[in-house]
Amino acid sequence: MPINPRKLVYIETFGCRMNDHDSARMLAMLEGMGYNKTDAPERSDLIVINTCSIRDKAEHKVYSTLGRFRILKEQRRSLVIAVSGCMAQQLGALIFKRAPFVDVVFGTHNIHKLKALLDERARSGAKTIAVDFNDEAGGNELVRLPDGPDNHKASVAIMRGCDNLCSYCVVPYTRGAETSRPIDDVLREVQALAGRGVKEVMYLGQNVNSYLTGALGFVELLRKTATIAGIERVRFMTSHPKDISPALIGLFGEEPKLCRHLHLPVQSGSNEVLSRMRRAYTREDYLSKVMAIKRLYPDMAITTDIIAGFPGETDADFRDTMELLRTVRFDNIYSFAYSPRPGTSAMSLDGHLPEDLRHTRLRLLQEEQKAISIELNRAMTGAVLEVMVDGIGRDKDMQGRSRCNRLVHFPASNDAPCGATVDIMITDAYANSLRGVVCDGAGMAACVC
Ligand code: SF4
Repeated sequence: MPINPRKLVYIETFGCRMNDHDSARMLAMLEGMGYNKTDAPERSDLIVINTCSIRDKAEHKVYSTLGRFRILKEQRRSLVIAVSGCMAQQLGALIFKRAPFVDVVFGTHNIHKLKALLDERARSGAKTIAVDFNDEAGGNELVRLPDGPDNHKASVAIMRGCDNLCSYCVVPYTRGAETSRPIDDVLREVQALAGRGVKEVMYLGQNVNSYLTGALGFVELLRKTATIAGIERVRFMTSHPKDISPALIGLFGEEPKLCRHLHLPVQSGSNEVLSRMRRAYTREDYLSKVMAIKRLYPDMAITTDIIAGFPGETDADFRDTMELLRTVRFDNIYSFAYSPRPGTSAMSLDGHLPEDLRHTRLRLLQEEQKAISIELNRAMTGAVLEVMVDGIGRDKDMQGRSRCNRLVHFPASNDAPCGATVDIMITDAYANSLRGVVCDGAGMAACVC
C-alpha cells in the first residue's frame, strides 16, 4: 500500500474574517509545501493557532487552546506548534515564555515567511520567530477556495492595517499602518476566482472606504469588479462612518451587483463617549448619513458594532446609545462589553466601569436589538427574497443569504444547488433568520432585496 508522503496541518482560527482570510493564505502556502489539511489535531504534524487580541476573552481562549495542544506535544515531540496572528504580532517572544512548548511565532506581517520559519525550525531544531512590521508582507497571491459546498463565495483582502487609532483598539498595533493592495492585483484575483466558479466576492479591510491606489479609490474598485463576468454579488466590510462617501452611497443605486447591506460601526450613541473613543464623527454626523441611506434605499440592511460600558460612560451616555438604536432600527448589531487592551490609550482613561455594569448594559442593548430585529424580520413575511444557496443547514433544510445578507432557510430542493439563486417567499421570521418556501413568482409580492 503506498504511503502518503504528505504531512498534515491543523489550523485553528480565532477572531475576525481577516484572520479567516489569513488562515486560508497560510493553508494555500502549506499545501504548496506538501501539507494536507486535517480537522484532527491529534493526527497532525503541524498545528497553527491563528490568534486574535481584540478582546481579553479571545486571548484567554488562545491560552486554553494552547494548553490542549501541550498535551499532544508531550505525547509526540515531533509535532510542531506555531502561533500566528494579532497576539503573536503584539506579544512576540513572550508567547515562548508563557507557552515554552510553542516552536514558531509569526505575526500578521510575516505570513509570507512561514516556509522559511518552518524550514529553519526543521534544520536547527531551534525556536523561530518573525514579528517585525515590514513592507513585504505579501498577501497578493491567489487564496485557495474555501472547503465545503459554499465555495461559490470568497473573501478578498484589499488592504491591511488601519491609521485611525481609535482609543480602544489594538488593530493599528497588530496589523500596522493602512496599506492598499494594487487594484490590478485585486481584480486579477477576483477574475481568477470567477474562473473557478466564485459568484460572490466579499472585499475585506479594516476600513475599506479609505482604499486608495494611485488615483483610484474604493468606488472605482467596486465599479471595475462589477464588470467581471461570473461575479453576481459584491459585498464589503468594514466601513468607517467618517469615510463613507456620497459616491459610494450613490453606487448602491447604480450598480445592481452591489448587495444592499452596509455594516457601519457606530460604537456609541453619545458624543462624549465617541470623542473619548477618538471616532472622529458625532452622533449627529452618523445619524444624518445613516438616515439619508435609509431614505434612499429602504431595502438596505444596516448593521453596526457597539461597545457597552466604555470608560466614563454615564447612565445618560448609555441612554443615548439605546435611543440611537431605536432611531436607526439596525437590522442587527455586534455588541461587546468594553474590554481593556494593553497598549491602547483607553487603558489610561479615567472612569473604568465595573465588569458587572458593562455586562448589564450589554444585555440591555442586546435585548432591545433582539426585539427590533424580530420586528424588522417579521415585516418581511410574505415578501420574496432573492437567495443565493449556501447548502444544507443544521436542521437539514437548505439555507442561503439574501442580497441584504439575511440568513434564509427553506425546504431542501433539487432545483436549488449551491451557488444558485432562488426566489424564496418568506413565511416565518426569527431574530437572526427567516424561513420560507421556493416560489415561482406567480401572485407573489415583489422581491424586496
Ligand atoms: S477604525 Fe478604529 S476600531 Fe476600526 S480597526 Fe481602525 S482603529 Fe480599530
